[in-house]
Amino acid sequence: MRTVAFSVWFINRQAYDWDRFIAMKDRRGWNHRRFALVSLIAITFLLILPASSTAFSQTERDAFQRSIVDSRQQLNPGFKKVKRKKTNYIIVHTSELGLKTTLRVVSKGKHFRNGRRTHGGHTHYVIARNGRTYRIMDKQYVADHAGLSMWNGETDLSKISIGIELVGYHYAPISDKQYRSVGMLIDILQGAYNLDDRAVLTHSQVAYGTPNPWFRRDHRGRKRCAKNFIRAKAGLGSNWSYDPDVHAGRLMADPQLSDVFYSQAITDSQPDEANIISKLNTAWVIAGEDYDSRTTVYQFPDGNLYTGVQIAETIGWDRIPAKTVVLLNQESKVELLRDDGPIKTISDGITAWSLAGRSYNHDTTIYFLPSGRIKPGSTISDWDDLPIKTRMIIGYKGPYPLRKDYSAFRIAGSSYKDRQTLYYLPSNKLLGGNEIKDFSRIQSGTLVFLPATL
Ligand SMILES: [Zn+2]
Repeated sequence: MRTVAFSVWFINRQAYDWDRFIAMKDRRGWNHRRFALVSLIAITFLLILPASSTAFSQTERDAFQRSIVDSRQQLNPGFKKVKRKKTNYIIVHTSELGLKTTLRVVSKGKHFRNGRRTHGGHTHYVIARNGRTYRIMDKQYVADHAGLSMWNGETDLSKISIGIELVGYHYAPISDKQYRSVGMLIDILQGAYNLDDRAVLTHSQVAYGTPNPWFRRDHRGRKRCAKNFIRAKAGLGSNWSYDPDVHAGRLMADPQLSDVFYSQAITDSQPDEANIISKLNTAWVIAGEDYDSRTTVYQFPDGNLYTGVQIAETIGWDRIPAKTVVLLNQESKVELLRDDGPIKTISDGITAWSLAGRSYNHDTTIYFLPSGRIKPGSTISDWDDLPIKTRMIIGYKGPYPLRKDYSAFRIAGSSYKDRQTLYYLPSNKLLGGNEIKDFSRIQSGTLVFLPATL
């Protein structure tokens, strides 16, 4: 089943591209149609043949097993290891953090401002954006990963499941390399515990919450975790066509999540799945239970920042303007974000995606790597390619090199002294026009970047 689903997905993808190819004008007189048909058959064979016996060869599985990074030594010594009595499910999560912070939190635990802390052990595996897989603890132990949860009448899913964390955000695409690793890992675990594809669920499917402003009873939607997980890409077939706990009346449905998981329509690309507020994409839809957290930051279109607590206390949930950007897990980063101006810095907890969202790989998002290289977003394949301390500017054009005969004024006009006009000096300093005291002494070789809207 997994094999078939995977092949169908792959062929569909190919077929889509070929359709466009066939539709191209036959300028050079080649028989594109015949060429495309023959190639399509060849590709189909190449894809199906090795896949039809099993999704992955034994050699591939062995290589994958050997490549798993053993991080068991990092586990918080305060975490109590208890053997699981049974294993009925595999639960997939998105970590909502970058790699380093994910590894720290799942091993060592979370610290809350009120002094409360957890003792780590929050997953069995972590899969980085580049596909590298980390073993956090032996799979036989109970990991504290699913929290308040229910499936088919059973509660506390942590006790009967294995947890896998994919590094990334529920509103950002999961990488192809992650799909390959998670597919392989799930395949191996299914074999070890004799589990079918319906035993693989996302955290958002199984989490539930107690009453809140949106729901008067226990309900789904507490977590958005891994709602972007496309099963077919991990080689998974049959899924639940309904939520058994909603069906039995134990829980209220979350309309947005039911749409993702149980509507008949294929919801591969949803218009509003990014972290930007709109009429349909509310704070609840984006952040789930973290909507009112003090580590959830709302960046209003005017640039002002508010935490979830501030919105709850002073602004109100129905008064967040459209186009507000929601940033999760911004622990103690609020100050840093506030003083950043147009220049953002990638750090331990903040990735290019959490700063720029979908535009992280646009031409007008420009990265200044610690090595001194400058890269437009269109050359970045994944936000995890970018090292910590990389600076970035969003919505810019350039570079325009300063020369003797090509002054800042000639390049930027009257806004050459503005904070928004940026100068990248040969010393690798990146400054706003307002920070440059003497334009007559600015070094040649300085590069100027201008807001793309000018
Ligand atoms: Zn989760």
